[in-house]
Amino acid sequence: MNEISPSVPDFQARLGEVQRIAREVAARHAADVDARSRFPAETLAALREARLLSAPVPRELGGGGCTIRELAEICSTLARSCGSSAMVLAMHYVQVACLVRHGGAEPLLRGYLTELVREQRLVGSMTSENGTFGEMRASLCAVQRDQGRFALKKDATTGSYCAEADAILVTARRGPEVPQTDQVLVLLRRGDYRLSATGSWDAMGMRGTCSPGFQLDSAGDEAQILPCPFADIAAQTMVPYSHVLWASVWWGIAADALARAAHLVRDLAKRSPGHLPGNAVALAAAFAESQALRHNWMTLAAELDALEAEGAAGRSALGSIGWALKLNHLKVAASEAAARIVHQALQVTGILGYKNDTAYSVARHYRDVLSASLMISNGRILAKSASMLLVFQEP
Ligand SMILES: Cc1cc2nc3c(=O)[nH]c(=O)nc-3n(C[C@H](O)[C@H](O)[C@H](O)COP(=O)(O)OP(=O)(O)OC[C@H]3O[C@@H](n4cnc5c(N)ncnc54)[C@H](O)[C@@H]3O)c2cc1C
Repeated sequence: MNEISPSVPDFQARLGEVQRIAREVAARHAADVDARSRFPAETLAALREARLLSAPVPRELGGGGCTIRELAEICSTLARSCGSSAMVLAMHYVQVACLVRHGGAEPLLRGYLTELVREQRLVGSMTSENGTFGEMRASLCAVQRDQGRFALKKDATTGSYCAEADAILVTARRGPEVPQTDQVLVLLRRGDYRLSATGSWDAMGMRGTCSPGFQLDSAGDEAQILPCPFADIAAQTMVPYSHVLWASVWWGIAADALARAAHLVRDLAKRSPGHLPGNAVALAAAFAESQALRHNWMTLAAELDALEAEGAAGRSALGSIGWALKLNHLKVAASEAAARIVHQALQVTGILGYKNDTAYSVARHYRDVLSASLMISNGRILAKSASMLLVFQEP
């Protein structure tokens, strides 16, 4: 048993299972999921069967007890076969991490985690809202409390796989009288809410995430409101987990595009032995960028795991400007690098990569990876980083 990471032997077996699902299930259905903009039901069923939906839940509750670095490796492995499936899994893992780390001792929330492990529940997210213009840290909707119960209505702009989810974590104001930034996170289980889609999801890429807008109408027990303010949940879990896991997904998409480009260059080299194909140098440059991107998310994941090992002090460090900047830099750099790498793969593969129906096609990869800079807009993130950099000095 490895002393630093006791889950290592187990994890290799788990990762082997993810590789099998990626190869045998996700890759087989990826084109159809994309073409029909449909939920990747087969892949999610396989992940459920392999009990991978509870990978972030601690072992004492029956989950996989995976570290953030291990979760990122799972997501990047799946992304090499189907970007949409991997993004669904990454978003689900972020929500589960929020419940694990901020549910506290609340019996209802702990009970839900046990149920999630047993039934392999899928959890979606609704932070976006019409009228807040992409600002996750503001809500217009508010929980209305009455005698231990609450009611909550929300007009969400985007809700990935919410129609398929077993539960949704929703941001809202703590009450109707508080400012937009005084938010809570609420667990809504299927049966607690009604959803009506307010649009369609006929998008350029990430089509299998099935992310239209929704009107949400819900009610529940006050104990479903996470006890910790959303400001802390966002800083300590939602933002770090999102940026690391999303970056790992974008890297996985880019890595598969590069693998296809490398396949083409090798095929060309076989046809003219002794000659370096003209596009081989561009391929090498793209591989160098891919390695840098991979190291970026892996390093931050390892740093986050090390902070977690420090306990409460480590978690509160995540509220610092230094960490907020580090995570913002990862998000912006990873989303831009992944798109550049897929663009380079397209230049290497040329028309064979541009077509949808060749073994070298990078068309789906290109459309999927373009979502990265919008999924919390880079412009918005850079504006926040710019303000923080006015006052921040490297320690
Ligand atoms: C594939 C996908 C899945 C998603 N899934 C979910 C989900 O499950 N749940 C959910 O709640 N949301 C989800 N989202 C929504 C997402 O997280 C963002 O909230 C949403 O994409 C922001 O929308 P926007 O681009 O219109 O907003 P904005 O952030 O308002 O950006 C609009 C434009 O304004 C610019 N801009 C905004 N602010 C600034 C600024 N301060 N300085 C400079 N420029 C600025 C941006 O660059 C951009 O061009 C998903 C998005 C994608 C792409």
